[in-house]
Amino acid sequence: MNHDDLNLWSKRAADWATDYHAGLRGRPVRAPLVPGAISSQLPTAPPETAEPMEAIFADFDRIVPPGLTHWQHPRFFAYFPANASPASMLAEKLANAIAAQGMIWQTSPAVTEIEQVMVQWLRQGLGLPEGFTGTLHDSATTATLSAVLTMREQALEFHGNINGLSGLPRLRLYASAETHSSVDKAARVAGIGQDNLVKIPTDQGLSMKPGALAGAIAADREAGMLPAGVILCAGGTSVGAFDRIGECIAVAHAAGLPVHVDAAWAGSAMICPEFREMWAGIEAADSIVFNPHKWLGVQFDCAVQFLRDPTPQVKTLGLRPSYLETAGKEDIVNFNEWTVPLGRRFRALKLWFTLRAYGLEGLRARIRNHVAWAKEACEALRALPGVRIVTEPRLSLFTFALKDDAATEVLLNKINDDGRIYLTQTRHKGAYVIRVQVGQFDCTRDDVMTIPQVVAELM
Ligand code: PLP
Repeated sequence: MNHDDLNLWSKRAADWATDYHAGLRGRPVRAPLVPGAISSQLPTAPPETAEPMEAIFADFDRIVPPGLTHWQHPRFFAYFPANASPASMLAEKLANAIAAQGMIWQTSPAVTEIEQVMVQWLRQGLGLPEGFTGTLHDSATTATLSAVLTMREQALEFHGNINGLSGLPRLRLYASAETHSSVDKAARVAGIGQDNLVKIPTDQGLSMKPGALAGAIAADREAGMLPAGVILCAGGTSVGAFDRIGECIAVAHAAGLPVHVDAAWAGSAMICPEFREMWAGIEAADSIVFNPHKWLGVQFDCAVQFLRDPTPQVKTLGLRPSYLETAGKEDIVNFNEWTVPLGRRFRALKLWFTLRAYGLEGLRARIRNHVAWAKEACEALRALPGVRIVTEPRLSLFTFALKDDAATEVLLNKINDDGRIYLTQTRHKGAYVIRVQVGQFDCTRDDVMTIPQVVAELM
């Protein structure tokens, strides 16, 4: 295949994509397959000789779509969304064509400089004060890991990453049980250990108790341990819990600890001023992550980490070997020094295209619709005899259940085998519940109201 072929096949691929998206409502949302159904259709050994693209494309069309769970399906209500707006997909096509590797400023100034401007556009979009800067990561998991590594190094006065952790005091992190498992993973990967991630109790509203946080930090210090930082939850994955951000940050800062806020999902909603009360006090955070790749329409992967002061993170993660030096430009930003990987994709392009193609107003309108329609679907479910709303809508996420775990699980399996909608489960206070989140870029009110209709038919 050469560049002429690429031109031809890119047009074929664009037509295929148009048909794929147009036909999504007619497909089951979740792949209705058993494990091995796709791999068994592929030869077990690679080809020795080149194959014609016609054959490759035909196999793609035959094998791949039936093996997909359709994340852009307008009736995908599972997990959280991984939205791809058309403008974002277009930008990704261009980024793919350019195939730049933006590890340092001079390996593509446009990659770094558009990223810097996009971080500032998003900062303003979310109503964060001037002074926050930041960077893009592949995922919230990596952003949180970067924040936790930085907490570790700050606590150890930057000796840990030089000498290793052996013989040093036991480090401690603090979060509630409502925070995402990426925080547990960060504690493990950072060498702090999952057992040293202290799960602070929550109140009736599922917010971390600030007094309990203060008590845990003091007790750990008393016991000779080394508190390193606090991770707060702004929109938990399970049922959308929010910590009282301002109060908890005040406790952490009074104890001299930095705070990272995980707003991976709910951060997108903060482009709407009316929701910002949910993370009141956020301006005092040291680090905040949110994923435009979840609810903003900027396709996977794209996580933004805002930093009040990037210096500790750059001191933790930055290395500048001679082969990465840029003669005469020592002060420029090389974003690899802010993140774990060296190589970086041109993620800022899809942010630029998406923010311009829809404008903040267009994106706000979608999010407001999702929140309103989630409430409407919740009320319609509540009206069904036998359905119990377990957690009320937080933004566009709520949970429901039937009389017991077994009945709820049977219903969920029936719903997903049916294929018209896709929902997933979680456990809340020990009980098996069905999550509903509304957030698809192209969903309509009718798509959302299919949820109570399907539940009523299948329960
Ligand atoms: N934090 C929250 C609240 C999430 O919901 C998720 C994923 O759904 C993550 C972190 C991890 O996100 P990522 O897949 O970008 O690592």
